[in-house]
Amino acid sequence: MKLVAGEQTDVGRVREGNEDEKLVDGRMGLFAVADGMGGHQAGEVASSTALEALRAAVAAGVPIRDAIARANEAVLERAGDDDRLRGMGTTMTAATLAAGGTLLIGQVGDSRAYLVRDGELRQITEDHSLVEEMVRGGELTPEQAEVHPQRSVITRALGIDAGVDVDLYPVELHSGDRVLLCSDGLTSMIRPDEIGAILRRESDPQKTADQLVAAANAAGGEDNITVVVLDAVDGDAPPAAAARDGAVAENGSPPPSRKERTGRLARMGRVGRVLLWAVPVALVIALAFGAVGWYARRTYFVAITDQRVTVFKGVPGGLLGWDPTLEERTPIRARDLTQAERSDLADEKRFASRDKADAFVDRLGQKVDDREEAAAASTTTAPTTAPPPPPPPGP
Ligand code: MG
Repeated sequence: MKLVAGEQTDVGRVREGNEDEKLVDGRMGLFAVADGMGGHQAGEVASSTALEALRAAVAAGVPIRDAIARANEAVLERAGDDDRLRGMGTTMTAATLAAGGTLLIGQVGDSRAYLVRDGELRQITEDHSLVEEMVRGGELTPEQAEVHPQRSVITRALGIDAGVDVDLYPVELHSGDRVLLCSDGLTSMIRPDEIGAILRRESDPQKTADQLVAAANAAGGEDNITVVVLDAVDGDAPPAAAARDGAVAENGSPPPSRKERTGRLARMGRVGRVLLWAVPVALVIALAFGAVGWYARRTYFVAITDQRVTVFKGVPGGLLGWDPTLEERTPIRARDLTQAERSDLADEKRFASRDKADAFVDRLGQKVDDREEAAAASTTTAPTTAPPPPPPPGP
């Protein structure tokens, strides 16, 4: 199995600089895209530093996951040396071709890998992004995620922490498979069905790469766009186009280490490290959520359930996942209430504290008691209040 590559990167139509970087090394069988972030060209430094370190590590025989960890260390070290680079980071989606035609893809961030097999497009990687986690948690639909204002906030990147969780995806390549590595400048501009259509329509990998970039620019080009297109082909003789630019990888890369094999089976834990700049966003959300929760949990209401007057903690119907809890089922029976009292409670009387709710219940209980006493009194004095006896029958 060999891989024939096409590649393209473009600044897009809005950004001033291109902070994306790609790596295509057919001889080593190493392919990657990195999307850097950080002000004052720091993003460019982050992505290029990461890819240089990745290449050096893979060249030295380091397995892909550890090579990405080394790239992480390199970005951190570089940022530590220069105040202007502090806080820079980068995504990385990197693929190595191993023995037996297995493509091993390591993933950190929201750049992606796709596979086209038998005409069908499949996304291989999962984004480490805020909206993707919200989609997985059922808080957003995929359609809502596409237009969410925080859709570019990522939850994992290289250059943030001393340790980094790398997700690994092995793909057993078949002849005719096509793999796409791309930055979010492509996927945020054109939908997967359009990406799939271009990947199916154009057979030449370089023309395909060019067309993908052109499509993202035609859609607005709001971010840097980087794509690497890899075609899996049988045989040893490199196709002419590939031989020309040397973009052919043979099965010469070292086989995956035992650690990688384990990694394939037991996927990495999915607890993402929140980026430094994602923390304020998360904090605001947490505070807002906490405020709603505080309101939901300090409020009480009184309602009729199971024919009894009942005190609940919370807000009727619940609020953002805080369901009301039953605090007390009082001895006051619904049937002892007047019509007016019952309809009052049908609207669920709300109170700002338990004391106030209790005071209301006490008054209600008192009214019921008063009525019962009055009724009892009227029963015992029945003769004086009873209607006059019917008139005696007529003669
Ligand atoms: Mg980007």
